[in-house]
Amino acid sequence: MSFFLDLDKELICSIPVDFQERDDCLSWHFDKTGSYTVKSGYKVAMDAKCQEASSNLKVEQQWWLSLWNLKIPLKVKVFAWKACLNGLPCLINLRKRNVLVNPICHCCNLEEETLEHALFWC
Ligand SMILES: [Zn+2]
Repeated sequence: MSFFLDLDKELICSIPVDFQERDDCLSWHFDKTGSYTVKSGYKVAMDAKCQEASSNLKVEQQWWLSLWNLKIPLKVKVFAWKACLNGLPCLINLRKRNVLVNPICHCCNLEEETLEHALFWC
């Protein structure tokens, strides 16, 4: 019975072994003392979460920048921007803003008029 995939076995075997004479010990390198504490575990989790959020933010900023740098009319950029933020006045959005309208699509009378329905599916 094997506990690891062949690729994992190769990676594990490629880890350099420390040949110094010392006893094995459990350590947690995120704490100054090498000990695990709830605080140090929480800090690691929060750092990872912030790093992921920061990475997502950079991707999002790059996406918006590429939209605004497109060589298309400004009104098209603004339309795309509003569409991406679900800010166009489709019937569902009007309903959310307390405008008394029937949210069923006037074109097909089959579904509620969400932004996706109006732009892509109807
Ligand atoms: Zn429709």
